[in-house]
Amino acid sequence: MTERSHVKLLIVGSGPAGYTAAVYAARAMLEPMLIQGMQPGGQLTITTEVENWPGETEIQGPELMVKMEAHAKAMGAEIVTDLVTALDLQRRPFTATCDSGRVVTADAVVLATGAQARWLGLPSEEKYKGFGVSACATCDGFFYRNREVVVIGGGNTAVEEALFLTRFASKVTLVHRRDSLRAEKILQNRLFAHPKVEVIWNSELAEVTGAETPMGVTGALLRDLRDGSTRTVKADGVFVAIGHAPASELVAGQLELHNGGYVKVEPGSTRTSIPGVFAAGDLTDHIYRQAITSAGMGCMAALDAEHFLAAEGEVQTAPSALVAAIH
Ligand code: FAD
Ligand code: NAP
Repeated sequence: MTERSHVKLLIVGSGPAGYTAAVYAARAMLEPMLIQGMQPGGQLTITTEVENWPGETEIQGPELMVKMEAHAKAMGAEIVTDLVTALDLQRRPFTATCDSGRVVTADAVVLATGAQARWLGLPSEEKYKGFGVSACATCDGFFYRNREVVVIGGGNTAVEEALFLTRFASKVTLVHRRDSLRAEKILQNRLFAHPKVEVIWNSELAEVTGAETPMGVTGALLRDLRDGSTRTVKADGVFVAIGHAPASELVAGQLELHNGGYVKVEPGSTRTSIPGVFAAGDLTDHIYRQAITSAGMGCMAALDAEHFLAAEGEVQTAPSALVAAIH
């Protein structure tokens, strides 16, 4: 039987933005429902040490997200394990349809669907996904004990993945398309100092080479971008770490997007192009893309939603002093 419910505020996504929005909205008595999606806890659940969450010199990503979920629950948010497969923002109340058949209508929505790993789009990358090609060292690194791996990319994720893989692999080759990394200097220093790491500059992955039986990766065909020459590096695994793309499919064609798919919000707020729909975190942010900035935007989205609902008379309580002060 289809489960139907109505809430004042629906939060879609369970990363730092979603859980922070849930904490603030619950404390504002909006009785929010948060739908977690395919990755409860979001991107931080696929990393290890997080060293830049204030108050925690070092904490494991999954542990931090378990704490955030517990915090949101303790404040009274309803946390639902499901996936929103369709979201109708054309009329109010807004309607979310979920994978389980659940239908939720809501007076306001906070979108916090974050971002997903980007792939290179090579046929051989697709062919060997799950058979040696991965976008998550934390998930798959364990399978490469005493084996050789290649990591593609030059940002924080690529460098962190490469460093993590040194725990298992006998050799880690980082391949980057330019001659300098964009990763933080502290990570770069750790990478360059590591005896198991080799960096190949100015090169791109042309193809993943592999075997059919058993299905698996045997190498990475690299192309030097300066002269076009190619060479194959032996590899048992190829980790693609070239960034993330905003998960805006649910709202494409309904909300204004910009910068290649990020949800556009009014500067200084989380208001989208549809009144009552707010967006926070990596879904809206092509610049900072950090846990702490996502959490900050989650807070803003809950306060913006509270203000919106109060103005509409959906919330009996007066808007908080902070919201009143900022609007
Ligand atoms: P996300 O964390 O991306 O969460 C999105 C959520 O939306 C998920 O729960 C997903 O299940 C849900 N969702 C998506 N679609 C749907 C749907 N249709 N229905 C319901 N739910 C849906 N940042 C740091 O500050 N410090 C770090 O050390 C750090 N390390 C990182 C390491 C890695 C490997 C990666 C990939 C990122 C790292 N980041 C780090 C960046 C940080 O993880 C992100 O900035 C942050 O997680 C973004 O939070 P978010 O809430 O916007 O979205
Ligand atoms: P990113 O910063 O966007 O870096 C992506 C990297 O992949 C860049 O080096 C880019 O090269 C390269 N790249 C992109 N497309 C490519 C292609 N088609 N072929 C080859 N290389 C390609 O992404 P990210 O590293 O995933 O980081 C995302 C966000 O999360 C960032 O804001 C980052 O700070 C944050 N994050 C933070 C931490 C931390 O704080 N410790 C850890 C992980 C992630 P160019 O350099 O040439 O553009």
